Amino acid sequence: MAKIKKTVKTIKIDADKCNGCRTCEVVCSAFHSEPKYSSVNPATSRIRVITHRLKDIWLPVFAGEYTPAECMGRDKYIIDGKEYDECTFCRATCPSRDMFKDPDSGLPLKCDMCEGNESGPLCVEWCLNDVLIFEEREEEVEEEVVIDEMEAGLEALIDKYGYDKLGTAFARLTQKA
Ligand code: SF4
Ligand code: SF4
Repeated sequence: MAKIKKTVKTIKIDADKCNGCRTCEVVCSAFHSEPKYSSVNPATSRIRVITHRLKDIWLPVFAGEYTPAECMGRDKYIIDGKEYDECTFCRATCPSRDMFKDPDSGLPLKCDMCEGNESGPLCVEWCLNDVLIFEEREEEVEEEVVIDEMEAGLEALIDKYGYDKLGTAFARLTQKA
């Protein structure tokens, strides 16, 4: 298998600095609205801030991978005596919960590092407390790994719409191209 260069993008989260202002949610949802910046709805954000206001706990969680099957078990965290709901800190979009799903279409939401935005991730740019720190590095990976990522995205669409509808959509897009 051929080796190719892959850029690995990371956002480091300095959680102690977060004050729960939720600017990150606002700017993320605005950037991903259609057309861009036409609306704000934190339910469509790829970053959500988990909170426990009384204990001053604020923890930003980024939307990760889609998975069609839920875990074999659930997890629960207790932090500073507060028990959080099952799966609260999980990044996955899965059938167990509504977190990181578009409220209208039900399609999975995933952080795309603000693809297409020249200045990089907007949540990093707009977090005035320096909670979010963007880093980039190059890694050599097997070509197959990159293909796997694309297949995961297609799998989510197939689960949601089925082969027939997806095939029709592809055919329509191919005609436009
Ligand atoms: S913008 Fe920064 S400080 Fe505000 S909630 Fe998001 S991560 Fe926390
Ligand atoms: S990097 Fe972009 S897509 Fe990812 S959570 Fe931040 S604003 Fe949203």
